[in-house]
Amino acid sequence: MGLYEGIKDVARIVQQADNLELYKALLDLSAQALDMQAEIATLKKENEELKAETLKKKSIVRHKGIYITLEGEQPEIAYCSTCYGKDSKLIQMFDYDEECYQCPVCHTYAYKN
Ligand SMILES: [Zn+2]
Repeated sequence: MGLYEGIKDVARIVQQADNLELYKALLDLSAQALDMQAEIATLKKENEELKAETLKKKSIVRHKGIYITLEGEQPEIAYCSTCYGKDSKLIQMFDYDEECYQCPVCHTYAYKN
């Protein structure tokens, strides 16, 4: 049974008891419980995002040519270290020519080395 259904069941029983103060107290507690449930959902989502971010940071490999790769990613993909440093976003770079990658967002060039 979910929180909302549980509150409705208890409210029905309290209503039958015909005690207005008890009913008002239950409504106050119900509102608080539902607010807390919403806050928990928000915190869970933030926690998942932070876990994912931490995992990304752990597996990042920096290269002298100012691009980054992710450890264990096959085939290896180059990401823009400028965008990552600025916004913590992994923007995949493309092959500009034989020697360089380029970022499609900030247009930074990075030597392949
Ligand atoms: Zn970039």
